[in-house]
Amino acid sequence: MTSVGAAFPAMWRELAPIGRHTGSGGYRRYAWTPADADCRAWFRSQAEDRGLAYETDRNGNQWAWLGDPAAGDAVVTGSHLDSVPDGGAFDGPLGVVSSFAALDELRARGARPRRPLAVVNFVDEEGARFGLACVGSRLTAGQLSPQDARALVDADGVSLAQAMEKAGQDPDAIGADPERLARVGAFVELHVEQGRALDLLDRPVGVASAIWPHGRWRFDFRGEANHAGTTRIEDRRDPMLTYATTVLAARKKARLAGALATFGKVAVEPNGVNAIASQVRGWLDSRAADEDTLAEVVAAIEQAARERGARDGVEVSVVRESFTPVVEFAHELRDTLAALLGAGAPVPVLPTGAGHDAGILSAAVPTAMLFVRNPSGVSHSPAESAAEDDCLAGVSALADVLEGLACR
Ligand SMILES: [Zn+2]
Repeated sequence: MTSVGAAFPAMWRELAPIGRHTGSGGYRRYAWTPADADCRAWFRSQAEDRGLAYETDRNGNQWAWLGDPAAGDAVVTGSHLDSVPDGGAFDGPLGVVSSFAALDELRARGARPRRPLAVVNFVDEEGARFGLACVGSRLTAGQLSPQDARALVDADGVSLAQAMEKAGQDPDAIGADPERLARVGAFVELHVEQGRALDLLDRPVGVASAIWPHGRWRFDFRGEANHAGTTRIEDRRDPMLTYATTVLAARKKARLAGALATFGKVAVEPNGVNAIASQVRGWLDSRAADEDTLAEVVAAIEQAARERGARDGVEVSVVRESFTPVVEFAHELRDTLAALLGAGAPVPVLPTGAGHDAGILSAAVPTAMLFVRNPSGVSHSPAESAAEDDCLAGVSALADVLEGLACR
């Protein structure tokens, strides 16, 4: 009898203080910052402590290998260590820590891998700093050109290329890595659930079926700046009004379609308390079970914005900043996972509205995901949580999966 996840609490404790903001209690682990460097150093030391072969790929993703990568058909697991602004402790790190713990568990079981195994930390998954999610996996999969990546800039005007250089990673080397992907036979990402489906089913672990298509749209509302105290209501061209109406429309259109639509970021000019705004820029995040529904929801929100803008004397323009199509995880691999984990009762198979590196890689590699119960469903917040027993159930499930795929 082995003690599953014996190293889990110590790994968790070591990571816990890195990049944690003392005021908010949330994590600020942004790509290529000192906090990110500390997380990366942690990853490397975990790899080396276990005698795994450590390497950083051309895009800055970190790999820890058990077995010879050149043998091919590798079973790879892992996630990311970066965070959203004031993110929680579990989104990303749970997958990486569980991966190392699952390798420990395989060794404790005396399992003999017939395929190479690896743990990976994909860089810049959240896109918190440069505005584009999954940069590390997108580059590797050839879904983001090196030129476009290098030109991404953060809020301080620092480009991704400059940030990488400062962190000691060569920005001229980035780009698609088909040879690396060709060595991967399967990628399994364990992740804290970002919703309450498992809690509602009273189950600690589930398997992902699909990732909803999702995208980000920038809405620009242009009116006219003027004095808040002297401008008659009739004479105003107030973009805040159009924006506010659009936010309400987004909620309504999404609810009617069974979709999701969120304005979570807004920039106001001139942003003065006694000034009518000249411009409001709002970012819409929208997701739905299928691409047609998503397109319809966003079109309906845009139409509502334009109609209201016409009444307010406000110009409206909409730019799609990013789009990720629906991801159906490889059915065969998904069914294999469900079979490996469903010895007692069938394991829950659920869709998710959140994007992941696994979704990006699924175009190139058979890919699957495991979710671990998150009782509140809260994610991208310091309140994000998972019980230790559930985390250990996740480690055990991941070990079962790795053993089933690589050791039989
Ligand atoms: Zn994540």
